[in-house]
Amino acid sequence: MSETETEEPTGEHAAKRTGQLRQCQRCGRKQGLVGKYEIWLCRQCFREVSRSMGFKKYS
Ligand SMILES: [Zn+2]
Repeated sequence: MSETETEEPTGEHAAKRTGQLRQCQRCGRKQGLVGKYEIWLCRQCFREVSRSMGFKKYS
């Protein structure tokens, strides 16, 4: 019987994931971002998305 190493070379991929995620996930903008609900969207996209999601405007 021979021992086989089945370890996956991880590290760089995992570290790269938590890099720059702060940009609009919809249009890629970096200005006027809204980081609510862990969703990064610019104000404009957030408005449209929240609208389609059923959110109402609170004021
Ligand atoms: Zn956007």
